[in-house]
Amino acid sequence: MNELAQKLSTGQVTSVELVEYYLDQIRSRDGEIGAFLHVDEQGALESARAADARRRAGRPLSPWDGIPVAVKDNICTVGMPTTCASRMLRGYYSPFDAEVVERLKQAGLPILGKTNLDEFAMGSSTEYSAYHVTRNPHDLSRVPGGSSGGSAAAVAAGLAPWALGTDTGGSIRQPAAFCGIVGFKPTYGRVSRWGLVALASSMDQIGPMAATVEDAEALFSLIAGGDHRDSTSAPQAEYVLPEEIPDCLEGVRVGVPEEFFGNGVAEEVAAKVKAAVKLLEGLGAEVRPISLPHSTYAIDTYLTLVTAEASSNLARYDGVRYGLRVAAADAAAMFKQTRTQGFGHEVKRRIMLGTYVLTASHHEAYYQQACKVRALITQDLENAFRQVHLIVTPTTPSTAFRIGEKQDPLQMYLSDQFTATANLAGVPALTMPCGRDKLGLPIGVQLMADHFQDGLLFTAGRLLERALKEAEAVGQL
Ligand code: GLN
Repeated sequence: MNELAQKLSTGQVTSVELVEYYLDQIRSRDGEIGAFLHVDEQGALESARAADARRRAGRPLSPWDGIPVAVKDNICTVGMPTTCASRMLRGYYSPFDAEVVERLKQAGLPILGKTNLDEFAMGSSTEYSAYHVTRNPHDLSRVPGGSSGGSAAAVAAGLAPWALGTDTGGSIRQPAAFCGIVGFKPTYGRVSRWGLVALASSMDQIGPMAATVEDAEALFSLIAGGDHRDSTSAPQAEYVLPEEIPDCLEGVRVGVPEEFFGNGVAEEVAAKVKAAVKLLEGLGAEVRPISLPHSTYAIDTYLTLVTAEASSNLARYDGVRYGLRVAAADAAAMFKQTRTQGFGHEVKRRIMLGTYVLTASHHEAYYQQACKVRALITQDLENAFRQVHLIVTPTTPSTAFRIGEKQDPLQMYLSDQFTATANLAGVPALTMPCGRDKLGLPIGVQLMADHFQDGLLFTAGRLLERALKEAEAVGQL
């Protein structure tokens, strides 16, 4: 993005030209990809004209003033619908912008539109959108991953230079890996959740998706920061871009947890991730095996908690306050009809499961138990981060699967096997492409670091990205 920022600052390109270019790409290619739910041509062009005027006056709002962005449709935006890809919120307009959207606007970024997702961010393939599926730009018969599949596909197909996604159990990282782009889940509390439609409030985080680590870091620096409207927002949230990047990883210890390389991981995925670990070693990092013994329970724990929190968060869709209302004889019938017609299968499944794990007779056996295992998973990471600075794993067990391939919800949930740990513990995690499988589908490597070590992930990520490019150029990847 530095290049674009440079071109804007020297007048080689204008924001209007940039926005028109991306709108053209969307017009010609989004018909087959389906990344967007809503495109705001007028709004984006208007913001671009304002950005150009500021440049001409020598007063850009930021180095990125005028570079457009796409926003996942569970993040509130004034003047554009916010539907969460649900019938429940069809045509719903938020009266306010999310904090992250305010921040993007303060930096001068025109918003191209809202991207597709699994309904209420529940899913791993974007097939659960109530509107349409999104296709993987690398192979249109395959899913882009989810739930931020629209944002991932938009960036991968060049329909937007960067985008916001959200990640509760892996929804930024898994689609980023499937689409061959960079995705970042910040430390919990680093980015405000104000104006993000809640799925599981103890894990939800908004984060950047972009073509390179550097771009993801720049977008992260624009959205990170404390916010009094989000009580879980951290006071040390602000992120300042580093002036200089070290040229090696001398003194950095990298842990490789065995648990993330067995059981169900495609051979090619494991091999490419191990090759990336070798490159980190080549950069001067010290690599050692570690163990995260409770991580094998991450997905069960995550599912218990995500359904519990979702069932509570989604109680607000009652036909009275937001979106859909189905007329019926009395209030009880209206609630029932509205929720029956407004929610899709996966959302209903999770509300029912979540209600079950929270019932008086079962919450100790399920919800409380999951809270305890969450503490153990968090402790595993605390122990690990006493020995190492970074943990490297595959982002996903496999590459992108076919549309319609995963009919069994359990199989779908296993996509997040390696990503959910970071959400449960609240630590930051970055995914970046590290080669392709035999079919040419992208493979992602995940880097995790301790709380508030987001910057270390970007530094290591940038160096690894460069090393991967060099290895690729000489055919070593
Ligand atoms: N795919 C996961 C799920 O279905 C993660 C969702 C998310 O991170 N929003 O819950």
